[in-house]
Amino acid sequence: MAIVISYCPKCKNMLEVSTAYIAIGTPYEQCSKCKTLIRNGKVNEWKLLAIYEKVYYTLIVTWTGFMFGSVISAVGTYLLMMLLDLKIDDNLILQVAIVGAVIGILICYYFFYELIKESNTRMNDPDYILELKSIGLIESNIDKQGNETGFSMKYPTDNTKAIKGIKLWLGILLMIAVWSGVLIFLLTIILKLIGITISIPLLIIISITLPTMYYFNKVFR
Ligand SMILES: [Zn+2]
Repeated sequence: MAIVISYCPKCKNMLEVSTAYIAIGTPYEQCSKCKTLIRNGKVNEWKLLAIYEKVYYTLIVTWTGFMFGSVISAVGTYLLMMLLDLKIDDNLILQVAIVGAVIGILICYYFFYELIKESNTRMNDPDYILELKSIGLIESNIDKQGNETGFSMKYPTDNTKAIKGIKLWLGILLMIAVWSGVLIFLLTIILKLIGITISIPLLIIISITLPTMYYFNKVFR
């Protein structure tokens, strides 16, 4: 994920250096110097996200858990087999990778769930809602009878622009697929030339992970 540095628009004080691009949290921050409240378009409360943003966040969390879980467990098993001088067992590596992926996803879901819970606790505080309204971050939804039926985000999250570009995502998926194929091909040839036998599931996992990490890092900048 890219590093984000933000400055106060009023006094140019450096606010925060963060590595998170998408996050669930308070959608504003306060300048420590001049106390101005500044909207943070990269962070939003769960309840204020659009449905497709929620789906998107969930997919990212799932993907992150899958990637870390499968790669760490597959590479770990491979290294352990090498270290113990065991015969490299592709099936075992694949099985461990699948279990690792499931555990990785569950761990990520746990933290995701905790974030959503904290977010909902904030949103259930009437004072917090008033504060969001006073900054102009949310506005009340009024029905025809003039009753307040809830509230909605006045400004979309910065990510909205990116998520809406379905073409962009299809393009990225296609690029990941192409580069994964190229990597599998090249690595197989190179490893054969130098005479190294590598486990096939490991080769495939590495070939998919590298371009995925590259493109995800590029998009979340
Ligand atoms: Zn300031």
